[in-house]
Amino acid sequence: GSIRQNNVTNGNSPLKLFTHAKVTITDIFKNIASFVNDSSIYLADVMKSDKELLAMDKYKDSQQLKERVNRILSIISRDHMKVVFFGRTSNGKSTVMNAMLRERILPVGMGHTTNCFLQIEGTDKMEAVVLIPGSEELKSVHNLSSISNALSSEKLDSDSLVKILWPKEKCRLIRDDVVLVDSPGIDVSTNLDEWIEKYCLDADVFILVISAESTITVSEKKFLHNVAQRLSNPNIFILMNRWDATANEPEMVESVRQQHLDRGLEFLCDELNLCDRKEAAENRMFFISAREALLNRNTDPSTSPRSGYNEGYRERLHEFNKFEHEFEKCISKTAVQTKFQQHTNRGREIITFLCETIANIINRSQTNKEEYLTKLKETEDKNVFLEHELRSMTDSAKERIRHVSEDVYKRVAQTLNDE
Ligand code: GDP
Repeated sequence: GSIRQNNVTNGNSPLKLFTHAKVTITDIFKNIASFVNDSSIYLADVMKSDKELLAMDKYKDSQQLKERVNRILSIISRDHMKVVFFGRTSNGKSTVMNAMLRERILPVGMGHTTNCFLQIEGTDKMEAVVLIPGSEELKSVHNLSSISNALSSEKLDSDSLVKILWPKEKCRLIRDDVVLVDSPGIDVSTNLDEWIEKYCLDADVFILVISAESTITVSEKKFLHNVAQRLSNPNIFILMNRWDATANEPEMVESVRQQHLDRGLEFLCDELNLCDRKEAAENRMFFISAREALLNRNTDPSTSPRSGYNEGYRERLHEFNKFEHEFEKCISKTAVQTKFQQHTNRGREIITFLCETIANIINRSQTNKEEYLTKLKETEDKNVFLEHELRSMTDSAKERIRHVSEDVYKRVAQTLNDE
């Protein structure tokens, strides 16, 4: 009843920073595409009428822009935010992910172990499908057990990637372009570098899920050290999961919490040098119960037990919400910076190139025009006079192109500043 929260929509989600930026940058590139189109027609005309006005290499460059812009547009349409979950088996990764997805999508516990990489991403279709590597076949999945079956019937290497395409319709996080990756338990695998190379280089956030009954292990630390070597300043969150277990020992809670916090901060701040202690304590380490959070969020009665909250659950639910909010802020900001900044720079380059090329032509033809006028005064040559008239006519076209280019340029600059 009353403790369930509204999980249908969340218009104020920090993830909107990314989704809005994506819409804006798509818009800008469509504008750039139409400017590139206009310009290339204009430059082809110039080339035909007067080769002196435009250098051949510039002309050739300009004719390749159309394809380049289309390529960027297609990359933008595929850009997303990516989060990788890792930690030892049974620490609760799948449960955390389900709680964030607000539904029991991933199989959890009880003999199940994720022994390969699992990526959950959005589809516009209404039905979920599983993509197994090496098989072209799309397996449609209706529920949890069919995902489990699809996974267990295959023999998969620990560094293979199974994709679950989940209907965007059903989940806010996925609708807002977040891709979630579950990794095999970090205890079983040794090829950490290969993992990082294959699945983590484009990740915006890493979430380490630890069981509050244990501590960060050597292999978990090693993984993060390797990540930090490959990616400068990775965003790392540490979730101390199963915090509900502390309900049994209330007198211990504070000291245990402080111990975990000290070790975690020492690792994040002193060893990896990622942020200062205050920032890490407030925004990077959270004491949660994924089990309770999922119970609170999963509204499907057929898969949700009716009871199971421990003493003090409200505080843990609050902590989970706080974690999620920080996570959303962090991932959308990072993804906008890493993914869109480069597009914005490319867009600027293209516009600047065309503006300069066109301005050059206008300048030169202006100079030529003066010459023509002088010549015109001196001679009665009809051809020169005609040519001059023709030039004046194309001036208005140039003027229009210049307006378009200035407008696009302004918008590109504006977006960059907004970020
Ligand atoms: P994974 O192997 O890291 O993906 O771990 P799972 O999500 O499959 O969880 C392993 C077991 O721990 C399951 O039985 C879960 O129900 C249980 N579990 C997960 N999170 C919590 C939690 O916060 N509290 C408690 N008490 N159990 C949890």
